[in-house]
Amino acid sequence: MKILEAELIASAPRADALPASGLPEIAFLGRSNVGKSSLLNALARRRKLARTSSTPGKTRELVLFRLRTDRGELGLVDLPGYGWAKVSRKEREGWQRLAEGYLSKRPELRLAILLQDIRRDWSEDESLLLRWLAERDVPGRIVLTKTDKLKRMRRQERTRALTAAIGPGFGKPIATSSQKGEGLDLVWRVCLEHAFGSGDAPTPAGGPDAEAPDSRPDADPVSRD
Ligand code: GDP
Repeated sequence: MKILEAELIASAPRADALPASGLPEIAFLGRSNVGKSSLLNALARRRKLARTSSTPGKTRELVLFRLRTDRGELGLVDLPGYGWAKVSRKEREGWQRLAEGYLSKRPELRLAILLQDIRRDWSEDESLLLRWLAERDVPGRIVLTKTDKLKRMRRQERTRALTAAIGPGFGKPIATSSQKGEGLDLVWRVCLEHAFGSGDAPTPAGGPDAEAPDSRPDADPVSRD
């Protein structure tokens, strides 16, 4: 798959202020520092499309990118990172309003990708988010980030432990490294399936976890048992 163009088209501090894109959109969410901007840049194959944590002035807003690929155009939406332990109740409520506003009312939304650092434990915050998505019938998928930080055996252990902690209903977590490029083909495949419907790997009525990773040549070997 080729990325022909990638650009930031809008950002907004409120969900209702984000202009309609008319494109199928994939939302990315996760705790601050999880590697969300790095993943967006790696997927877009651009170094500085999304602002990383180290960029000064990174603010709490929704950011919409338009990507033109040889398979069609789609929108990638960067939701602000969260981290409940460190923020005030007011900030938390602000994040919830923004994220829930987007996730519950955006007709363009096709899939929400929840990022999880492979080295961190799954927490109640992530469980709540998944439950919230499931209750609203928003398809979700988990992407594990920063696999290159662990040795192979440890990576497999962590992937297994997180898969068990996450439980059924959201497909197998996709293990990725934005730095090494691991797992990105599979993330793209899932994004394209949700954005444009079935290609060569049809998604049966079973939902977001319906593809069969074991039969694909580009399936991430780390996420296999
Ligand atoms: P965000 O806050 O979720 O947008 O996270 P960033 O993309 O800014 O990444 C946070 C930190 O993790 C930065 O120091 C990145 O360089 C680092 N990081 C992100 N992805 C990877 C990865 O795949 N491998 C490694 N080793 N570091 C990563």
